[in-house]
Amino acid sequence: MINCQAVLRNLFELLDNEFGKTNADEFEKHLALCRKCCDRVEFHKAARNRLRQKAGAAPPDGFKGLEKVLAPFGK
Ligand SMILES: [Zn+2]
Repeated sequence: MINCQAVLRNLFELLDNEFGKTNADEFEKHLALCRKCCDRVEFHKAARNRLRQKAGAAPPDGFKGLEKVLAPFGK
């Protein structure tokens, strides 16, 4: 059984799904038993999702330029 330190050390790899199935199972087992680590993982997952949504909502590069190009046609 892995411990809290192992979870913390590998938290970001875990979130990125860079672990093999065997290791992932060990983490799942630990998270099922350890409220502290479970909360931590959920917190980081939520934070990442928020970041991703923000990045997706931001105007793409060159958007301002495109607006300028299209402006004359809008009038
Ligand atoms: Zn733990």
